Amino acid sequence: MGRAFVYVILGGGVSAGYAALEFVRRGVSHGELCIISNESVAPYERPALSKGYLLPEAAARLPSFHTCVGANEERLTPKWYKEHGVELVLGTGVKSADVKRKTLLTTTGETISYKFLIIATGARALKLEEFGVNGSDAENVCYLRDISDANRLVNAIQSSPGGNAVVIGGGYIGMECAASLVINKINVTMVFPEAHCMARLLTPKIASYYEEYYKSRGVKFIKGTVLSSFDFDSNGKVTDVTLRDGTKLSVDMVVVGIRIRPNTGLFEGQLTLEKGGIKVNGMFQSSNSSVYAIGDVAAFPVKAFGEKRRLEHVDSARKSAKHAVSSIMEPDKTGEFDYIPFFYSRVFTLSWQFYGDNAGEVVYYGDLSASGSTFGAYWVNKGHVVGAFLEGGTREEYEAIAKTTTLRPAVEDLTELERQGLGFAVAV
Ligand code: FAD
Repeated sequence: MGRAFVYVILGGGVSAGYAALEFVRRGVSHGELCIISNESVAPYERPALSKGYLLPEAAARLPSFHTCVGANEERLTPKWYKEHGVELVLGTGVKSADVKRKTLLTTTGETISYKFLIIATGARALKLEEFGVNGSDAENVCYLRDISDANRLVNAIQSSPGGNAVVIGGGYIGMECAASLVINKINVTMVFPEAHCMARLLTPKIASYYEEYYKSRGVKFIKGTVLSSFDFDSNGKVTDVTLRDGTKLSVDMVVVGIRIRPNTGLFEGQLTLEKGGIKVNGMFQSSNSSVYAIGDVAAFPVKAFGEKRRLEHVDSARKSAKHAVSSIMEPDKTGEFDYIPFFYSRVFTLSWQFYGDNAGEVVYYGDLSASGSTFGAYWVNKGHVVGAFLEGGTREEYEAIAKTTTLRPAVEDLTELERQGLGFAVAV
């Protein structure tokens, strides 16, 4: 059994949805494009899962957040794919790939061949077992990567009214889930090994602003230690969490957000890997010229950093998708991808954006001690502004810091930059 397509997108997440829209805009014929996904729903905006999806009232549900609404573009429902002749093969995994023969073998036993393949397999959440702790299968232990994880989390929340949750991990998933749990009136203790939350991006000073805000909403922090083991009841539910520092906490539910790993397994030994992902050039082409990789799984050249990076963020997933499709369909008219990294988060009533690179000296502005204030920071490296963070900005102000990190203006006097604060970016 087999089918042949000109273009196959492997994976049905954020980048797959944006790639499909770009293919259709550029004019693929009916039956030329296929998306294979082991999720049972059409591509959707994954960030919604830790935000609107977990709200106690008026929660976001599909079809409202199918791609590409996150970038204020068309919402691609299953009907859209049908009308545009895009084959959606859902609830189907790919279990092996042969890039020499240009074929994929699915879990249903079908061989799908392609002329061009786009790998959009994203990443998976690391499991506790990979850190030597058992218990991931307990019904009140939750991860968050896809809709089925989100449904399990919603069930756990609804089964724990007024209860206690431990959130393991102080990154994006941990912080956003902790906020959602508080909004659902669950008592939250966050546990992570670092000295402060969001350690890969935020400075101690900025992180402390968010931690203080979380504390004001009742969240407790236990830092510098990790999970050691669980106690279970006779139904296999976790009742207590023991930490390596000896602390024991009784729980109704546990949320685990301890990093992700790109899904490269199908291509190991067939394509060149770098930074844990599939190495691509500025056109998103891998070491095999018929195979492209986009989104979380791709290690692509980021000019601003002068090296290849893998970015685990939705903006790069969307933009890499569009660029790869352009590279495939109009290679002569497509230049190298020129991208300024952009990350954001929204928790409670707070909202921040970050652009560029968090390297060099940090210059702060605004009031970091007052809750609900607007404040920010610039990163200055080798005399140029290379990164900018802003909490509580307006659309115009976010655009201004984005532009600043794109133009990388020279700065001689850091005290003067601090004095000008946001005004510096607005004037650029
Ligand atoms: P994904 O969207 O993960 O899609 C990968 C797809 O491939 C999935 O459909 C998967 O099932 C499929 N797949 C994998 N292997 C196979 C296989 N062998 N066969 C078939 N299908 C396969 N980023 C931000 O910048 N801001 C945020 O606020 C933010 N919030 C987030 C909240 C959550 C809960 C999560 C999980 C992520 C969040 N992100 C956020 C990150 C962002 O969602 C990702 O960067 C983005 O989804 C990456 O897109 P992708 O297409 O590379 O991967």
